Amino acid sequence: MSPRPSAPLDLLDLDSALSEEERQIRAVVRQLVDDRVRPHVAGWYEDGQVPARELAREFGKLGLLGMHLTGYGCAGASAVAYGLACLELEAGDSGLRSLVSVQGSLAMYAIWRYGSEEQKQRWLPSMATGEAIGCFGLTEPDHGSDPASMATRARRDGDDWVLTGGKMWITNAPVADVGVIWARTEDGVRGFAVPMDTPGVSAREIRHKMSLRASVTGEIVLDDVRLPADALLPDAVGLKAPLSCLTEARHGIVWGALGAARDCLETALAYAGTRTQFGRPLAGFQLTQAKLADMTVELQKGYLLALHLGRLADAGRLRPEQVSVGKLNNVREALAIARECRTILGANGISGEYPVMRHANNLESVLTYEGTSEIHQLVIGQKLTGINAFG
Ligand SMILES: Cc1cc2nc3c(=O)[nH]c(=O)nc-3n(C[C@H](O)[C@H](O)[C@H](O)COP(=O)(O)OP(=O)(O)OC[C@H]3O[C@@H](n4cnc5c(N)ncnc54)[C@H](O)[C@@H]3O)c2cc1C
Repeated sequence: MSPRPSAPLDLLDLDSALSEEERQIRAVVRQLVDDRVRPHVAGWYEDGQVPARELAREFGKLGLLGMHLTGYGCAGASAVAYGLACLELEAGDSGLRSLVSVQGSLAMYAIWRYGSEEQKQRWLPSMATGEAIGCFGLTEPDHGSDPASMATRARRDGDDWVLTGGKMWITNAPVADVGVIWARTEDGVRGFAVPMDTPGVSAREIRHKMSLRASVTGEIVLDDVRLPADALLPDAVGLKAPLSCLTEARHGIVWGALGAARDCLETALAYAGTRTQFGRPLAGFQLTQAKLADMTVELQKGYLLALHLGRLADAGRLRPEQVSVGKLNNVREALAIARECRTILGANGISGEYPVMRHANNLESVLTYEGTSEIHQLVIGQKLTGINAFG
């Protein structure tokens, strides 16, 4: 079925917990990553350039954009199928999963969940095919973990809205056609679907990143941006709206991080089998086997967790603090796995000839975006104690 079976890493036969359809979707995405991403991704990463528009159209053709949404040309797949797609994409590179997550779970989801019928008709079909790219502007230069303190303002002027402020670290921004921009109004935080070619909007690419180099990241400046009344997402009222979008995207990350970890572990396993020191393969040393065993145990536990959360999502019962458990654990463990695999490859571990250091560097961003590990600890801590320890 799949071109590269997950075995021997699937010690627990967790594949058997997937439906035939889920396995098929996974196989299709895995093939796409093998054909279209693996041959080029090291170069994209090294150059800090990725053909985002071209890839978006290819991902769109396979139905990966807004994959778990229904209508408007979206695939209407299950949350588990979407998670598996994220896992396979991130086995290629976290940057490509980020492209898909931001498009589908942040920008498209915001419009799909909170937009007017006209906004949905205008944006979603072309975003589903990848003809139009979206971004999601919540973070600001001075307001990251605490978006409630955002400085970007939207004020009414007649029927129009005028937006002023700036957003920072926004995935896809320099290549986006539409930005879902969150701003403070007299009535609290509201969301706007902003065509990125509107006068007053500019998006500068953030360079010199040492992580997620195969992803386009930008800073958005909003200089008295005049928008018609119908740019407002009518049903997005208050900070809970952008936070609900983040819950969607974090679910994809719970799965995606496992893809990066799996790719590292497959690489380390293969390397340890062929690299010989002291007259035997690295895989023959007990210390190496202990590392491989511990990493496989964590990978399988993370997968069980992702699958459980995915099934809860499909049953409509997934709660934000449960997603926090998944994001905190799976990204933290994926990063630990990537670093441990790096040691098994020795000096080759730092080379771009192998994917391990690239994944480890990428996972540093994944640890920080969509709620840092500390923020997820605070979410879980609040649930356990009933005490808000954020501020
Ligand atoms: C590559 C990349 C892509 C991104 N893409 C997007 C995007 O598309 N859209 C978007 O809106 N944002 C995006 N972000 C921004 C990301 O969501 C923020 O970086 C993140 O929310 C953290 O904010 P900050 O960087 O300002 O860190 P800060 O909030 O300044 O935090 C710095 C440190 O302090 C800790 N900290 C903060 N508050 C507390 C507290 N109460 N208790 C304990 N510790 C605390 C944090 O956990 C962290 O360790 C992206 C970031 C990166 C790196």
